Amino acid sequence: MLTGMQIAVLGGDARQLEIIRKLTELDAKLSLIGFEQLDHAFTGAAKEKMDELDFAAQDALILPVPGTSIEGQVETIFSSEKVILTKEMVEKTPSHCMIYSGISNAYLTGIAEQAKRQLVLLFERDDVAIYNSIPTVEGTIMMAIQHTDFTIHGSNVAVLGLGRVGVSVARSFHALGSKVRVGARKSEHLARIAEMALTPFHLDNLGSMVGDIDICINTIPHPVVTASIISKMPSHTLIIDLASKPGGTDFRYAEKRGIKALLAPGLPGIVAPKTAGQILANVLAQLIGDEYTERKGI
Ligand code: NAP
Repeated sequence: MLTGMQIAVLGGDARQLEIIRKLTELDAKLSLIGFEQLDHAFTGAAKEKMDELDFAAQDALILPVPGTSIEGQVETIFSSEKVILTKEMVEKTPSHCMIYSGISNAYLTGIAEQAKRQLVLLFERDDVAIYNSIPTVEGTIMMAIQHTDFTIHGSNVAVLGLGRVGVSVARSFHALGSKVRVGARKSEHLARIAEMALTPFHLDNLGSMVGDIDICINTIPHPVVTASIISKMPSHTLIIDLASKPGGTDFRYAEKRGIKALLAPGLPGIVAPKTAGQILANVLAQLIGDEYTERKGI
């Protein structure tokens, strides 16, 4: 239980509602900033304005998945209030106050460092990335169905990268009956791909592996699907690029060649915001609970 904890939830989308639900269930006291247009009330959570928040009383600040903009602005889809988090605000918090965010940028990292507060990035955690790969795969399957006129079953699929998303994508398309080949650069990844009963290939040989592919799913945040690679693909190939913006595909060249290439960021929040929120809520509850126990010496 988080009885006695005071936590401020600063902005966010539908995923934040699952976090609010979970933390209030655990008896934390919440201040909700940027939620005044939300039609729902949570027992134990009070909607407040940013300039009314008592920063000195907060044990934790929870930011939305993107953190802040480079100007410090926090995304608030349930509010028209402009919420900006400043170094001065963070400095007012008690020294044990933790800041939780999905990702960070130079601004957010900078104000946390200057105020000497610990910034915890949930999306850097393996557990969050692996759980998130589940809705990411479902979104990828949805896109493959929507943008092709052939079945996934029996199609030739190339997956690029064998990280947390690549493993889940490759395994799921294989389970749906695709003939999956996976490109990686590490010998242990190539061995794992073979162990998964998929076809491994080194990324250096990508050009010779795309001549007959129906779907190319990129998970590598690096320019790998270059114009030269795209020029070797059949014209009906669908490229789904899951890597973080700007993706790893030469979209300009794909368009020029008439190959459909889609950058598909943020699929968990789009196809399964409730599950995506629950993933974050469960991990946050665990982290905040551990921190609380440690601080109280329980
Ligand atoms: P990850 O576990 O770090 O995997 C990244 C993969 O890319 C690894 O196999 C890595 O191989 C490879 N890689 C990285 N840089 C490379 C390079 N220069 N050349 C060749 N291979 C390279 O990351 P992840 O969790 O799977 O996420 C993959 C991407 O998807 C990230 O950009 C992430 O932000 C994004 N993502 C998108 C969604 C969505 O909804 N679209 C959802 C979740 C994640 P090595 O081990 O050899 O470095």
